[in-house]
Amino acid sequence: MSLADQPHSSHPSGILFVVSAPSGAGKTSLVAALLENDPALSLSVSYTTRQRRPGEIDGSHYHFIDHDRFEAMIETGAFIEYARVFDNAYGTAEASLRETLEQGQDLLLEIDWQGARQVRERFPEAVSIFIVPPSLSALEQRLRGRGQDSDAVIRDRMGKARDELSHWDEYRYLVVNEHFDQALQELNCILTAERLRSVHQGLREQDRLRLMLGA
Ligand code: 5GP
Repeated sequence: MSLADQPHSSHPSGILFVVSAPSGAGKTSLVAALLENDPALSLSVSYTTRQRRPGEIDGSHYHFIDHDRFEAMIETGAFIEYARVFDNAYGTAEASLRETLEQGQDLLLEIDWQGARQVRERFPEAVSIFIVPPSLSALEQRLRGRGQDSDAVIRDRMGKARDELSHWDEYRYLVVNEHFDQALQELNCILTAERLRSVHQGLREQDRLRLMLGA
């Protein structure tokens, strides 16, 4: 797009990042570390019908709601995407997502492959990233290390992990989380590269470019 094509009133819109991974791949720790050092990035807080785990805060980790309220939100079209994962329902509210992006803030969704697919259909420009664990045994160790789930739940989660993994090729980027620091650096590189694309940077830097080009 040339500068002449850009209306003077155009302002940057945030970038939508979608991150998926099999449960236990270390996605939550990586995302937390990303957010810590990146004030331009926000995390979308999903709605879920699942039970709160120890230490989780309503409105911060998730909005914990019951099935009736979840169904009502589906009926009113409040979700930009929703899916059933591990017998619970999870969804992303459209209104808060749009509000964040319109403020020019980048937004990260931590959602499963079903949700990522729906988001890509609605926002083809969304940047999708898949985090791969180094191996299935490492995944199982991490799941057991959390000490939050029973053997039966872990067996079930391992089956679902393989299913989630099989969707890796639907994503724009793949990051292997073998070494945490390296995986974090790679995620930061993806964010930086996407932000420097001329379509985004051209809007942020439009005054500078106009001045230099006399447009
Ligand atoms: P957990 O219950 O362990 O927090 O999350 C289970 C799975 O649900 C994870 O794969 C997580 O990414 C996914 N998930 C969390 N929030 C959402 C959401 O809003 N939409 C979708 N589709 N998946 C979600």
